[in-house]
Amino acid sequence: RKRNPGQDEFVQAVQEVAEDIYDFIADKEQYHHYQILRRIAEPDRIVSFRVCWEDDQHNIRVNRGWRVQNNNAIGPYKGGIRFHPSVTESVLKFLAFEQTFKNALTGLPMGGGKGGANFNPKGKSDHEVMRFCQSFMTELYRHVGADVDVPAGDIGVGAREIGYMFGQYKRITNQFTGVLTGKGLEYGGSLIRTEATGYGAVYFLANMLKTKGEDLTGKSAVISGSGNVATHAAEKIVQLGGKVLTLSDSQGFIHDPDGITQDKINWVKAHKTKRRGRIADYAAEFKGATFVEGKTPWGVPCDVALPCATQNELLGDDARMLVKNGCQAVAEGANMPTNLEGVHVFKDAKILFAPGKAANAGGVAVSGLEMSQNSERRSWKEAELQQLLLDIMEGIHSSCVAYGDQGGGYIDYVKGANIAGFKKVADAMLAYGVV
Ligand code: NDP
Repeated sequence: RKRNPGQDEFVQAVQEVAEDIYDFIADKEQYHHYQILRRIAEPDRIVSFRVCWEDDQHNIRVNRGWRVQNNNAIGPYKGGIRFHPSVTESVLKFLAFEQTFKNALTGLPMGGGKGGANFNPKGKSDHEVMRFCQSFMTELYRHVGADVDVPAGDIGVGAREIGYMFGQYKRITNQFTGVLTGKGLEYGGSLIRTEATGYGAVYFLANMLKTKGEDLTGKSAVISGSGNVATHAAEKIVQLGGKVLTLSDSQGFIHDPDGITQDKINWVKAHKTKRRGRIADYAAEFKGATFVEGKTPWGVPCDVALPCATQNELLGDDARMLVKNGCQAVAEGANMPTNLEGVHVFKDAKILFAPGKAANAGGVAVSGLEMSQNSERRSWKEAELQQLLLDIMEGIHSSCVAYGDQGGGYIDYVKGANIAGFKKVADAMLAYGVV
C-alpha cells in the first residue's frame, strides 16, 4: 500500500494473489531470494500520454491514455484496452497484473498488459470515436507491435474501435501485422473471438458443475452486464439448457422470469451495440420483464451466477445473499467483479467459485490463436477454434484443480488459479536471473 498510494484496486488484486500463494512459496527459497512476487507486482513499464482530439462542435478535448506493460516473461505483453471514465492508473495496473496470471493459465505464450483511457464513448458520434481512436493510436503505436505488445478490446472497445485503431497503426507504420486482436474477419480477425470470453466462462462453469456430477440443464442463471461478455455467456447458458433471468448495465438490471431466450439476447446485442441503447428498454420491449433501477441483480434467487460487467460489482452482502438463496456456483466473466469480502464469503461457504483470471480466459486464449493465425497468414476453421476453446478451458480447469484441491471434495479455484499462473511466470523469471 505504501508503494502504491491511492491505488486500491491494484493493492486488492496483489493482496488476493499474495494470500493464496503464501503457503505454496513458503518453502521455496528461490522465489523469495529472487523477489519474484515483488517483481511481478512492479510493472515492467507504464506509459501515460495525452490524447488530444476535436469533437463535432470543434472543441478541443484532452484525455489521458495509458499502457501498462506488466510482465513479458512468457511472451509479448497482451491485454485489452478499456475506454471508460472510471479508468485510472490503479485500475489498469490491477488489470495488467491479473492478466499476467490469466495469460499464463491459457498455456499460450503471452505476457500481461492492459491499457486504456478515461474517455467515455457513450453519446459520442462515430466520427468523434474515430478521431479519438486515431489520436490514441498515434501515441500508442511506438510502444506496441506484433512481437512486443498486442492489445485487444475491453469495456468500451469493441469491433468499431479496434478497426479505427488498427487502421491508424497500419497508416503510420505502413505495416500490416497482427498488432491488435479482436479485428474484423475481413482484416485478420479470428472466428469466435467475439463469443470466446462469454462462452469460455460458461464452459468453465460446466466443468465445475461436472465435479459435482451436475450440468447446466434446467439451471437458472443470474448474469450482470449486457455487453460482449454478458450476452455471450447468456447465449451459451441457453444453448446448454439453462434459463437466464437477468442482465444489467450501469443504470440497473432487468429481471425476466420467463427467461431471456436467444431471440431476446439478439435484441439486446443489437440494442447495446448498434443502437447504443440502455438495458432499461428491455422491460418495455418484452412483456413480463421488469427493470430495477440503480441495483445489481444478486438478490434474484438462482442456481448459478455470472458477474460479467465490471470490477467490484459483487460485494460481501451480495455474496451472502447468493449463498442464502441457494446459489451453487459463481463464475466471473468480468475481471475482479467480486470484492475480497465477497470472495471470502464464497470460500467460507465452500460453493463453486471461479475467479475471472480462470473463468474469463477464453477471450484472451482465442486472441492468442488470432496471433498464431496472423503469423501464419491463415484463418482457421470455426469447428477447429471451437474445439481449441473447449480444450483450453478444460485445461485451465484442470490446472486449478491440481493446485486448488483442498480435499473433502472442495476445490479452491482462486488459490488453484493463482498458484498455477504464478508458478509458470515465476519459473520463467528464475531462468532469466536478475533482470
Ligand atoms: P462491454 O463494454 O461490452 O460491456 C460492459 C458491460 O458492463 C455493460 O453492460 C456496461 O454497462 C457494464 N458496466 C461497465 N462499467 C460499469 C460500471 N462501472 N458499473 C456497472 N456496470 C458497468 O465490456 P465487456 O463485456 O467486454 O467486458 C465486461 C467485463 O469482462 C470487464 O470486466 C472486462 O475487463 C472483462 N473481460 C472482457 C473480455 C472480452 O473479451 N471482452 C475478456 C476478459 C475479461 P453500460 O453500458 O451502462 O456501461
